[in-house]
Amino acid sequence: MFDTIAAISTPRGEGGIGIVRMSGSDSLCILTKIFKPISKKEVSELRNFSINYGHLYDGDEIIDEVLVSIMKGPNTYTKEDIVEINCHGGFLITEKVLELVLKSGARIAEIGEFTRRAFMNGRLDLTQAEAVIDLIHGKTDKSISLSLNQLRGDLREQIDILKKQLLDVSAHVNVVLDYPEEGIDDPLPHDLVENLHNVVNTTDTLIKSYNKGKMIKEGVKTAIVGKPNVGKSSLLNSILREERAIVTHIAGTTRDVIEEVVNLNGIPLVLVDTAGIRKTDDLVENIGVEKSKELIEKADLVLFVVDNSRELDEEDLKIHERIHADKVIGLINKTDVESKLDITPLTKIKKWIKISALEKIGIDSMEKEIYNYVISGQVEDSSQKLVITNVRHKSALEKTKQAVENIFETIDMGLPMDLIAVDLKEALDSLSEVTGEISNEDLLDHIFSNFCVGK
Ligand code: GDP
Repeated sequence: MFDTIAAISTPRGEGGIGIVRMSGSDSLCILTKIFKPISKKEVSELRNFSINYGHLYDGDEIIDEVLVSIMKGPNTYTKEDIVEINCHGGFLITEKVLELVLKSGARIAEIGEFTRRAFMNGRLDLTQAEAVIDLIHGKTDKSISLSLNQLRGDLREQIDILKKQLLDVSAHVNVVLDYPEEGIDDPLPHDLVENLHNVVNTTDTLIKSYNKGKMIKEGVKTAIVGKPNVGKSSLLNSILREERAIVTHIAGTTRDVIEEVVNLNGIPLVLVDTAGIRKTDDLVENIGVEKSKELIEKADLVLFVVDNSRELDEEDLKIHERIHADKVIGLINKTDVESKLDITPLTKIKKWIKISALEKIGIDSMEKEIYNYVISGQVEDSSQKLVITNVRHKSALEKTKQAVENIFETIDMGLPMDLIAVDLKEALDSLSEVTGEISNEDLLDHIFSNFCVGK
């Protein structure tokens, strides 16, 4: 049983309402000391899951006119008794209400502590708690929808299925190890070997989905590269004008790290190093071949621009050489003028889009292509619904997959059964790490420190 915590759960500042939330076994007792319902009922007489109008008192002094929601555990967010006080949303008034609650016996909640309790009390597993953070931080529709799937428990369900399959294998292995006299020599029956194959395949698909998930959640790092004067800066401007730029992010003082984020059909496109290609009066800089190399390595996606009005030259070829064929879209710019370009030598580029940055031709097709690249290009099976977005999940699944692959090796080499038992335990433990059945304080501190106060 934990103590009773409280926090302001709405953003700081002036607003229509502010919510002070309490969770813990003393929540209702604390409310009794400070709340008088208009109905003149005692707090203990108020119905569960009711909203009650009344006044908050600090001794004889009225602090605010409020609505109080009463939610008794275990059917609540934390599985504990929760009281939410809807007060007026001024900066000072919410602070005063919080102070009153604290003075009456609650303790101030740490960052993310409500959700941490939901996890500790078994209301959410760790993947669901992480989905709550992602949901709060979500910047586009697509990333929010992935977080909602995870919050619903889709990932946990999949992990449970894998665990069940491994536990079946484990049961067999343990019987063999515990009762050698039974003389079961066939190391593993066929259906259990199938279970192991399934675990390898499913973890592999999930691991592969991470790239896509990460791009949807964190944005697609996109670099526009090409030799000077092909129209990179013009292209950048037309993308920025067309799409609503979400953030212009300038970290530190160097121009190098400017990143602009545009929302492309729900996917954040992070245009990296836009300072390098932006032209202003005091900044005439171009991306040389060396710089392109750096950008190409950093990016999830490269937009390689060539100039329709000129012949290919050494510089185009040098940049082309450095490009990775699996993450590039080729753009033939200046198609509004007569063509002198022959793209035959640029063999790495599988997809070309004809555009004119100046005349705004082909920008739609380019955007469609970028969208397809993110949505389907990264995973082999685009119908696969479950996508992981968290690097912690990815590395735990990699450990699971590796451990099961070790089991196959043990079987192939005819090694003793106890080695299989060791790897099975490793595989099961790694799966339990994903859902948080195995966790440690440091990891939990790290995860919940990403929350905001009051969640
Ligand atoms: P960057 O050096 O690659 O950033 O190229 P800029 O965007 O500065 O463009 C170089 C020159 O090409 C400028 O004079 C642009 O106006 C011109 N330009 C860019 N895009 C087009 C286009 O689609 N058609 C034509 N005709 N000119 C373009």
